[in-house]
Amino acid sequence: MVKVAVVGAGAMGSLFGGFLSEHGHDVTCIDVWAEHVEAINRDGLRIEGISGDRIVPLKAVTDPGRVGQVDVIIIFVKAYHTEAAIEAAKPMLGADTTVITFQNGLGNIEAIERHVPRTQILGGVTSWGATMLGSGRVRHAGVGDSFLGELDGAMTTRLEALSEAFTSSGIVLKPTDNILGLLWSKLLVNIGINALTAILRVQNGRLVEYPGSDQILALAVSEAVEVAKAKGIRLLYDDPVAKVRAVCRQTAQNRSSMLQDVLAGRRTEIDFINGAIVREGEAHGVPTPINLVLTQIVKTIEQSYDIRVS
Ligand code: NAD
Repeated sequence: MVKVAVVGAGAMGSLFGGFLSEHGHDVTCIDVWAEHVEAINRDGLRIEGISGDRIVPLKAVTDPGRVGQVDVIIIFVKAYHTEAAIEAAKPMLGADTTVITFQNGLGNIEAIERHVPRTQILGGVTSWGATMLGSGRVRHAGVGDSFLGELDGAMTTRLEALSEAFTSSGIVLKPTDNILGLLWSKLLVNIGINALTAILRVQNGRLVEYPGSDQILALAVSEAVEVAKAKGIRLLYDDPVAKVRAVCRQTAQNRSSMLQDVLAGRRTEIDFINGAIVREGEAHGVPTPINLVLTQIVKTIEQSYDIRVS
């Protein structure tokens, strides 16, 4: 049994916490959303969707100080809350605690590293999907390849043991020696799809139907590939642009998370997706004008949610 704290028990955090809890691990969810925490403690977590509808008994708190030290901290807040979340999680952190991030985007590992020794951090990438239905209720929307890896690529006994703990709980995690390559390869898909779908307000498949959006997609992804090369990242795909186009077609009906955020008037993770490519490009002398434009348009959309022209 592993003692686990999930910091950020929203769609993905509560789903992963629920799976681990129903398979006998000692899980506490930590979230600033008091109503959700109360609902989980009172009624259990209601999981609906592809893994079956059920209620999972689960512990939840708003104050990480009440949990004690844990074996594993899973960070599942949105990227712009990572710094605050890991700061608040410190009372649960011991010398043997492992911190795992399955979040999307770039910059989460760096934010965690400002508070936790790098050797205590594992990276994760997941293709599972979830959406919140309300306090105490989550919809399990998708499963897919998921990976866990040491940041230096070592295949350690810790990595094997934790991958096994998740896998035996129903979250199949493959241990990998290239988690940064996997993280960047997923990032390239988000680079090509998220900002453009949010700006154009279209589903994923539309991007490759119009010559204009298809060209912008290709240019944005190509810039990010150059940044990845400059950083020595081992990408998974020989032709990342073709891969992103294929994902658009495979997920043609999907609304990207950034489109959903923009439609709901919420803050997006743009600074950690296209915005991160601009920052990394500057650091490595790689021009990224397309990603700069996409970033600034999405940021301007966020800043002008309250303005309507009729
Ligand atoms: P979400 O908004 O549903 O959940 C985030 C939760 O964090 C919220 O409940 C919020 O109240 C909580 N939170 C915010 N600040 C906090 C703090 N300081 N301490 C504790 N809790 C705090 O987000 P999500 O959709 O679960 O996404 C989380 C991350 O996982 C993102 O990086 C996202 O890109 C990534 N991701 C999401 C999916 C998906 O299908 N939803 C899939 C793969 C990866």
